[in-house]
Amino acid sequence: MRQRVKSEVEMEHIENEEAYKGLKVSAGVSGAPEINPYIRERVRRRNYTPAEFVEGILKGNITILSQAVTLVESALHEHHILAQEIIEKCLPHTGKSVRIGITGVPGAGKSTSIDVFGMYLLEQGRKLAVLAIDPSSERTKGSILGDKTRMEELSRQRAVFIRPSPSAGSLGGVARKTRETIVLCEAAGFDTVFIETVGVGQSETAVHSMVDFFLLIQLAGTGDELQGIKRGIMEMADGIIINKADGDNIEKARIAASHFRNALHLFPPAESGWAPQVLTYSAHYKLGIQEIWNMVDAYTCFTKKNGFFSHKRNEQAKYWMYESIHESLREAFYHNPTVVSSLAAMERQVLNNEISSFVAAKRMIDAFLNAGL
Ligand code: GDP
Repeated sequence: MRQRVKSEVEMEHIENEEAYKGLKVSAGVSGAPEINPYIRERVRRRNYTPAEFVEGILKGNITILSQAVTLVESALHEHHILAQEIIEKCLPHTGKSVRIGITGVPGAGKSTSIDVFGMYLLEQGRKLAVLAIDPSSERTKGSILGDKTRMEELSRQRAVFIRPSPSAGSLGGVARKTRETIVLCEAAGFDTVFIETVGVGQSETAVHSMVDFFLLIQLAGTGDELQGIKRGIMEMADGIIINKADGDNIEKARIAASHFRNALHLFPPAESGWAPQVLTYSAHYKLGIQEIWNMVDAYTCFTKKNGFFSHKRNEQAKYWMYESIHESLREAFYHNPTVVSSLAAMERQVLNNEISSFVAAKRMIDAFLNAGL
């Protein structure tokens, strides 16, 4: 009788022989499945070339867009270089969205409003990116501007890209990152960009320098609501919208609106030729939403016709060129080894009245310039 050819497993495992009755060893499974297939995905994503990044962004790939935004936000020099290359290649595909700044004090209803406005715009077939500027934000701390959990309905939609504020840093740095993120979002096909900020401090000036329309969310209060608002913010607004005009608050909101209208009359006419409007609405009950977007559309139409829309964009581009120069110079100066090694000593000399502030500054600048040559 011909002997059966033993399989590899049988040869390797004597337990499979007749003598070991009751035992049967089977071939193992080759290579255990990966624990998390997404880990490999993530690692692979980091290695995209600039051309692959650009291709992905132009195709509207949200994962690649997010990855590129992470490069924009990164503090690493090599990420910065890569991000700049991507941005430059995306630039020809940008500029086609309407950029809207949304500001209001905490509790005014920004996130509720953005959720509702966003859903309204999606219904109109628009693609929306929600960004934020909050130089004080720390991602680990509570409610953060642009946080997805604050925009429940919107964050579940596919045609929406939501990104919280870049984490704390100088306002200039945070604003630059958001501005660059706008470029990437537009290249990815988002036709409407919201930039959320808190109506306290300087951040709304930064937002104003990168949007087409500036929307100020207000609340009706005790009649003295105008006192709490800095004149500068009101002057920047193209539209003031009074939220929570519902229930017992409707009449108060109406009165507040007329106060705001009166106050606006006292300002000189805006350069755009547009007279800012004041509207009341309720984000919670979704009332008066369409009127707000009719206003934004009317503004866009009006300023495109009179040339202000592109004039403002040009002015903003110029502004950002100078901002970038200032930021780059500041960074180069404070990271320069010669400066780093002598700055503290120079500061001490100033404090000891051994040298004036101006002479000290000049010496440091000279040291920087000579070191750089
Ligand atoms: P944010 O801090 O400016 O983002 O404000 P939120 O959107 O978180 O809103 C603050 C509070 O106001 C929340 O409790 C909301 O539910 C409430 N709120 C927002 N919009 C309205 C509204 O239209 N009517 C009423 N009655 N409450 C609202």
